[in-house]
Amino acid sequence: MPLRDSSSGLALRFGRQALGVAAARELLLSYARCMTAETLPLALALGRRLAAPLDAACDVPHFRRSGVDGYAVRAADIAGATPERPARLRVGEVIAAGDVPRRRLTPGAAARIMTGAAVPEGADTVVMLEMTDAPERAAVGVVVGIRKMLPAGSNLTPVAGEMAAGERLLDAGARIGPGEAALLAAFGHHEARVLRKPRVAIFATGAELLNVDEPLRPGRIRNSNSYMLAAQVLEAGGEPVIMPALSDDAAQVERAILRAVGDADLVLTTGGVSVGDRDVLVELFARWSGRLLFNKVALRPGSPTSAAELNGKLLLALSGNPGAAFVGFELFAAPVLRAMLGNKAPVPRPFTALLDADYPKGSAYPRYVRGMIGEENGCLRVRPAGMDKSSLMVTIKDADCLIVLPAGGSGFTRGQRVQAYPLRMP
Ligand code: AMP
Ligand code: MG
Repeated sequence: MPLRDSSSGLALRFGRQALGVAAARELLLSYARCMTAETLPLALALGRRLAAPLDAACDVPHFRRSGVDGYAVRAADIAGATPERPARLRVGEVIAAGDVPRRRLTPGAAARIMTGAAVPEGADTVVMLEMTDAPERAAVGVVVGIRKMLPAGSNLTPVAGEMAAGERLLDAGARIGPGEAALLAAFGHHEARVLRKPRVAIFATGAELLNVDEPLRPGRIRNSNSYMLAAQVLEAGGEPVIMPALSDDAAQVERAILRAVGDADLVLTTGGVSVGDRDVLVELFARWSGRLLFNKVALRPGSPTSAAELNGKLLLALSGNPGAAFVGFELFAAPVLRAMLGNKAPVPRPFTALLDADYPKGSAYPRYVRGMIGEENGCLRVRPAGMDKSSLMVTIKDADCLIVLPAGGSGFTRGQRVQAYPLRMP
């Protein structure tokens, strides 16, 4: 039986001691397990993280590559060349990108060459077209004047100039962004071994909840949290699975959640964690057979945010208030998902900014206010996103940061220096 009887005394031992945000997050992260690997076609692996390091299997470039359109020459042949006294060289070959040069460049000769083409043996420099007096379509046999001297090695990338075979291409955990994608493609990785996306089961709880397609009824509200969290899960790189909302029936909640803990990689719930007499998650935790990690965080909004572990899986129970659920996800679930996805720095770094409006409310706990980042005279500014009460959801869409207002005091004034966390980091 995965659940214990509440008479075991566990409920008592699990008294509501508030953990700090950082401590709660560290505790969660210590249970976050990296996902297993899967192999995907490169185009489908974009945005994922590599499961293992990769080394370069060849030199890049693997031939001496011209960086410009112009003439491949021997630096010695153009020593002392000026616009008044150009070096005169006879064109022996025209080399387009993709061609293999057919002849070695001999003294006194030049080869017309295009960007990206292989520089012929014997040549050690490429002169840009603009530094010659050649007609644009010079042909074999024409004499071209080079109007500038250049040191050997100019305008060409030597073999392995970017990377040599055997060098570390990408580290494990590297996120396949634009630069990584280019490297993988250049080195022939048409498939990539990446970490799987965590499947995140999302439950809303509460007898008041209606499905989104149901008409409003007195006293009832539509379940908005599940969709908000699903979007947050997507942004954090996970795969959301919206589960049917749960009523306030303890046995049903228990069955559904335990099944999800078995099937999913992470389980999120909203609602039912405060001290109301129908708070089903509190009841479930009182009989939990795994580890209870915390059931209170020194945080506004969302102090009843709770977390538990069972068989290596995490269950994060967020407050039902939309604002609190949003903040709770960003502070706790998003870092856990990033860690599961192989991100070695899963917690966003706060930045310092000036508060751009008065905030006349103090709090016993640090407050994480949804805010908007702005700028004035080169200074970062953050402004609370209007109505930020935890029960209100309309301004969540406007937020691009969480402003941290420390505990204590009776409020904050415009111009005060504060810290804020950016939202939506990859
Ligand atoms: P609870 O945490 O269950 O006490 O819920 C706190 C507040 O959030 C109540 O006003 C609930 O009606 C509201 N709430 C709970 N779950 C949801 C949800 N899934 N979508 C929107 N609001 C919710
Ligand atoms: Mg409820």
